[in-house]
Amino acid sequence: MRKVISVALPKGGVGKTTTAVNLAASLAVAEKKVLLIDADPSGTCAIYLGIENEQTTGSLFEVLSFTRRISQVITKTQIPMLDFIASGEPSYHHEDRISRLTGNLNLFSNMLTHELGEYDYIIIDCPPYLKGFTTIALIASDSIIIPMRAGQFSITALKRMVEHVKWVRSAYNHKLSIEGILLTMYESHSKAWTMTRKDIERDLGPFLFTTSIPRSTVLTVSEFQGKPAVLFDAKAKGSLAYMSLAMEIMEKDMGLRRPAVGVQ
Ligand code: ATP
Ligand code: MG
Repeated sequence: MRKVISVALPKGGVGKTTTAVNLAASLAVAEKKVLLIDADPSGTCAIYLGIENEQTTGSLFEVLSFTRRISQVITKTQIPMLDFIASGEPSYHHEDRISRLTGNLNLFSNMLTHELGEYDYIIIDCPPYLKGFTTIALIASDSIIIPMRAGQFSITALKRMVEHVKWVRSAYNHKLSIEGILLTMYESHSKAWTMTRKDIERDLGPFLFTTSIPRSTVLTVSEFQGKPAVLFDAKAKGSLAYMSLAMEIMEKDMGLRRPAVGVQ
């Protein structure tokens, strides 16, 4: 089985990169063969993984510009079952041009299907806007994880995201589904969270993951260390939460019941 999951929301700082890196690492620690692709030109996944520019052999941008094959730009990480593709440094202008090239919208999808068969999961970290690489990634994906933090702006972004998913599904990719909405930096006693959660449950309740990710310093500190949280402190609540998310996804893919209890 090979499943492609994009992590996306058109809003900055909601935990997309933290989720993409730590979910990919958790799936790899659970002995799945995983490829993490950074589709955000800001390149933060590489920082989180402690990978310097010189260690990479190329980037997603070069692949989509036809100067490298996707198999040539895969970098090994500190976790044996986890490989990585860096984003490169396209400007927004370059990125926009790539996404406008006729036929290119499906190019990435075709490459993932035909050239990367050995992976169980391919996780794509998207930029905080809908155009360009986010759309290319969604066309290539089986599902999307939508990370959410508390607040009205996040709720507005969530609604835009869901409409965009519906559009990509009807125009390009009929198999695209919502893997789940993930509450990040979650604080169960916060009033902002109570209101945000209520709003999501009313409109999109069935899409909420059982697991939520609590606010946890290990997720910020491990970013500074250039290590996924599970390598830095596997027993910290942030690491356990991402492991629980990985289990929830794997159990769903195996046709088993979703875990009854989320973290926190
Ligand atoms: P951008 O849209 O700019 O790419 P993003 O959605 O990828 O942002 P992240 O970079 O993952 O967001 O997270 C933003 C900040 O919040 C980071 O400093 C990260 O360490 C911190 N953070 C993310 N999740 C948590 C959490 N559960 N607990 C504490 N801090 C967190
Ligand atoms: Mg990010």
